[in-house]
Amino acid sequence: MKKILVTGGAGFIGSHLCERLLNEGNEVICADNFFTGSKKNILHLLDNRYFEVIRHDIIKSMLVEVEEIYNLACPASPVHYQYNAIKTIKTNVLGTINMLGLAKRLKARFLQASTSEVYGDPREHPQKETYWGNVNPVGIRSCYDEGKRAAETLTMDYHRQNNVDIKIIRIFNTYGPRMAANDGRVVSNFIVQALKGEDLTVYGDGCQTRAFCYVSDLVDGTVRMMNSKEGFIGPVNLGNPVETPIIEFAHKIINMTGSSSKIVYKPLPQDDPVQRKPDISLAKRELEWSPVVELEEGLKKTIEYFEKSLTFVKKACL
Ligand code: NAD
Ligand code: UDP
Repeated sequence: MKKILVTGGAGFIGSHLCERLLNEGNEVICADNFFTGSKKNILHLLDNRYFEVIRHDIIKSMLVEVEEIYNLACPASPVHYQYNAIKTIKTNVLGTINMLGLAKRLKARFLQASTSEVYGDPREHPQKETYWGNVNPVGIRSCYDEGKRAAETLTMDYHRQNNVDIKIIRIFNTYGPRMAANDGRVVSNFIVQALKGEDLTVYGDGCQTRAFCYVSDLVDGTVRMMNSKEGFIGPVNLGNPVETPIIEFAHKIINMTGSSSKIVYKPLPQDDPVQRKPDISLAKRELEWSPVVELEEGLKKTIEYFEKSLTFVKKACL
């Protein structure tokens, strides 16, 4: 049994990670400021005596005793991370410094959740970890993209300068139950719109691509990375390499939900990457990891989740 801190543990990915770590018999502390996370995501874990929740903002320092730190705290949806851009970059810079400082003091292993956004609007396709990226440093996405790039730099520098035991993962678009219905990301937007019979909002011409990874696969890769051999620090891409144009994805959601919704086209947000698909050969080789959940299977579970939560909201409003 290990004592583990998960920052952002009440969020979408963080709550699945806490659950997995508890199921494996660990003691888990979840630290979250509940900006985009919710108590609902972790309600089912509260009875577990090895689970502890602390309302904490990582831009402030934190004193706990743990052996491992998964640093996930940061809003991930463009709508949410742009809502308070300065706070987003503070979370990535000051927050990551605080968590790295904690890891240094405790001699704890530290895993930084980075993102495919460090590749920006990539000129290399698919993206390998060796690609340095094409990021606009002054655009509306840069609070997140540059924030995460700075977080990677800080993580590497604490390793080089202070010998902190680190791991870096670059997460590609991940989806599944417990995504927030209002978080503005394409998977939740399209499913909620389809279930409500509203128009599906495709930004731009819908030819831009993304590759979607189901959350249990992502969590498995994350835990494998934390437990990987000393000396393998990454960064390593974690994502599902099956690439889908957004317009095709919209049609898939309409078909799978049996919805009568139509598709409407809206302006493409500034700096929206044209294509994205991970090269996961490094994860396959070093972690013996590759995703196993196919898109249709993962979407089915996600649609069921949103169906249930929308019915619950409807009943609560009656
Ligand atoms: P999420 O928004 O659901 O979860 C983020 C969690 O962090 C929330 O619970 C939020 O309340 C908490 N948080 C935010 N700022 C905080 C702060 N200053 N102090 C403490 N807690 C704070 O997002 P997610 O999809 O679960 O993403 C989790 C992590 O994975 C993030 O670091 C994100 O950048 C990374 N990531 C996610 C994806 C994806 O597709 N979901 C892709 C790439 C990277
Ligand atoms: N998108 C869309 N309609 C929506 C939400 C998003 O067409 O309602 C597009 C968005 O422009 C992007 C892709 O879907 O090209 C993925 O967007 P998301 O916000 O999920 O994640 P990103 O990969 O851009 O961070």
